[in-house]
Amino acid sequence: MAKRDYYEVLGVSKGASDQEIKKAYRQLAKKYHPDVNKEDGAEAQFKEVQEAYDILSDSSKRANYDQFGHAAFDQNAGYGGGGAAGFDDFGDIFSSFFGGGFGGGGTRRADPNAPQKGQDRFMSMNIDFMESVFGVEKTVTLNVDEQCHVCHGTGAHSKEDIKTCSRCSGTGQTVTQQRTPFGTFQTATTCPDCGGTGKTITKFCKECGGKGFNSKRVNVDIKIPAGIASGQQLRVSGKGERGLNGGPNGDLFVEIGVKPHKHFKRDGNNIHIQVPLSVVDAALGTEIDVPTVHGDVTLTIPAGTQPNTKFRMRDKGIKDLRSSRMGDQFVEVKLEVPTKLSRQERETYETLREEKGESVFDRFKNAFK
Ligand SMILES: [Zn+2]
Ligand SMILES: [Zn+2]
Repeated sequence: MAKRDYYEVLGVSKGASDQEIKKAYRQLAKKYHPDVNKEDGAEAQFKEVQEAYDILSDSSKRANYDQFGHAAFDQNAGYGGGGAAGFDDFGDIFSSFFGGGFGGGGTRRADPNAPQKGQDRFMSMNIDFMESVFGVEKTVTLNVDEQCHVCHGTGAHSKEDIKTCSRCSGTGQTVTQQRTPFGTFQTATTCPDCGGTGKTITKFCKECGGKGFNSKRVNVDIKIPAGIASGQQLRVSGKGERGLNGGPNGDLFVEIGVKPHKHFKRDGNNIHIQVPLSVVDAALGTEIDVPTVHGDVTLTIPAGTQPNTKFRMRDKGIKDLRSSRMGDQFVEVKLEVPTKLSRQERETYETLREEKGESVFDRFKNAFK
């Protein structure tokens, strides 16, 4: 069975926002959930939706998918096999949709104490052209909230110091009833005692004072691989915003900007450069030492080289980011006609003109007769 495009599966556009993807997923997952939908094929469709969402909801997986399609995930392409893989978390999905009490019309929120991964953070960094060619390691200093290693994020001195909130009985919400001539109204608000966590702490952790985390100024080493191009992003895991309820930190994404080089121009993994060449060298041929990112390399200019000829120097370009393949360097010769001549040069040029007899212009002109 050929795999359908993940965006098509969720019925969203390629540029869909995270919110749109989440919304589409929730609607489809509800529709095809095997506990609800007993039709043939519903289970397969549920799995397909689940798989599409797993990829598109993760920014790095989504970027990979956008670039390489299904090939990016060949190793774990397990759907259609009929197994029960991936069904472990049915319970979770189910309760978050239906509030646990399916059919009872309950309005319980998702578990306020469930660990949640923190938000991702983004930054940009400019590097020099040569650093992008050969790779570089940069260190940035960031404030990172690290989970408290003493209480593991709970903020409590010990497990026994975590008690169910007496005001809301652990629901995280308080309900107030109001009788009016139109009936009884119930309003649910976040419990003011526990702030919605459903828990109160009787003795705080000494290390973090109950916060569950410690803000630290840390040095983060960012390894920038050889061959990186402007606009590409690197992911440093765990250096994003802090997670909730003991969940892991989000990730840090670093977008790389490469400063242009004065002479080398990048095109894919190839480099283009222009070099000046005298008319005499072009006519007679010569050898020149051409600058490349790998150092000077001798290039043979054959006699009779024409203006703007491009020479290819194999493997003198940029290493491919994902393989050991090398790009090439293309050298374009710009013929330079002297604007100032010494007396001796002038005489030499005049001798040349006399010896040549019919000039190229004469030959061109004669063709009109
Ligand atoms: Zn409470
Ligand atoms: Zn602590």
